[in-house]
Amino acid sequence: MPTFEPSLQAARALLAQVQPDAYARTRNALDGAVTYLSPYITHGYLSLRDVYCAVHALHPLDAKHKFVFELGWRAYYRHVWAHLGQGIHQSLHPGLLPDVAYRTDMPQDVLEARTGIAAIDQAVRELYATGYLHNHARMWLASYLVHLRKVHWHQAAQWMLAHLLDGDVASNHLSWQWVAGTGSSKPYLFNADNVAKYAPAQWHSPGTVIDTSYEALDLLARSDTAVQHRIGSWRAHAGVAQPALTETPPGALWSVPDASLVTDRAVYLLHPWSLGAMPQGLGPDVVLIGVGFSDCHLQTPWSANRWGFVTDGLLSRTPQLWWGSVQDIAQCLQGARSVGWQPEAHADNALASLKALLQAGQAPPAVTAQSRPRLFEPVEPYCESFAKWWRYTKIVP
Ligand SMILES: Cc1cc2nc3c(=O)[nH]c(=O)nc-3n(C[C@H](O)[C@H](O)[C@H](O)COP(=O)(O)OP(=O)(O)OC[C@H]3O[C@@H](n4cnc5c(N)ncnc54)[C@H](O)[C@@H]3O)c2cc1C
Repeated sequence: MPTFEPSLQAARALLAQVQPDAYARTRNALDGAVTYLSPYITHGYLSLRDVYCAVHALHPLDAKHKFVFELGWRAYYRHVWAHLGQGIHQSLHPGLLPDVAYRTDMPQDVLEARTGIAAIDQAVRELYATGYLHNHARMWLASYLVHLRKVHWHQAAQWMLAHLLDGDVASNHLSWQWVAGTGSSKPYLFNADNVAKYAPAQWHSPGTVIDTSYEALDLLARSDTAVQHRIGSWRAHAGVAQPALTETPPGALWSVPDASLVTDRAVYLLHPWSLGAMPQGLGPDVVLIGVGFSDCHLQTPWSANRWGFVTDGLLSRTPQLWWGSVQDIAQCLQGARSVGWQPEAHADNALASLKALLQAGQAPPAVTAQSRPRLFEPVEPYCESFAKWWRYTKIVP
């Protein structure tokens, strides 16, 4: 697994290694040819179009290639988010059990990676240590939590989102709903044979609750009784402490907004979802400011790993990092000549408020928001299934 250095160079190095045909054959295996690009896509080093174009240039891709299809899933989840907005935080339709049948706290043994089920404990340890999990491991962890431990998908999704370097609310919450069966036609279940087929030996989980048939798992998933964590079971081990999650970044590296740095200047704001953005047409004297909007993080704390990725990524672009409310940041930017940024759905509310506050000022700076080119044609109206969306969309030439 890469070390996920927050830089365009590291993103491009991973991109150059993508082998789409090997990916299509092996992506379900934990040691398969997956790309590890997601943290770079989430944080704005690479757009889906950048990824497609770079891979297509080396390995010409048919529009129906598995690799393009998987990029499509990410774009589809954005389509759903764009249409439903905050609605993705609720079950899209009823699942196996009513929402109230699920608990709204995380089981302590899962948080500490000591369930005694190797596949689950390995996944939690890896998530904490690296901020990354293979797609299949995410599915196992999600399925176990929702269907066997009866944790509400939203609670568990918020927990995983906070620890992932690639945490993206659309891909995350809608994938959880896909597993839970509230966003798909059936729940996703897995057993120990599936783990043995796709994961290395230290993940194998014989003799545990998941070492059973799909029929038995289906009954467990439909029952409103959670499977018990067997304290002292033979595979249980000491566990690990959950890394702390915080709503604020490492204090010493971020400052309060300072108007004197931007007076009469062309300013370009880099936010946590646009670490690789380049200012265009703002002149040679443009000043880059890294901004974190405290308003965005009240509901979504991050791990130190994720704050580190974002902070280091911003610091490699500019020494000026501002942390504050949209209001405070807007106040300091009032004296700027112009202010630019790259739009991104995670920051849209904050950026829309910022724009409104700037434009309400006495001598408002010119505001420019430059989006990145799309890979897939936008689809109207809302498609309730990926299959439908995929039929309607096409790659933008
Ligand atoms: C429970 C759960 C939670 C998830 N949470 C997130 C999340 O917070 N952020 C996130 O980016 N992805 C999430 N995913 C989707 C997927 O697991 C990751 O995008 C993928 O594992 C990232 O690793 P990679 O870049 O090596 O992917 P690769 O397999 O190499 O795929 C290449 C790219 O295609 C896209 N992609 C591949 N598979 C999927 C998929 N199933 N859904 C959406 N896009 C996909 C991603 O952009 C990925 O970077 C989640 C999946 C599950 C089951």
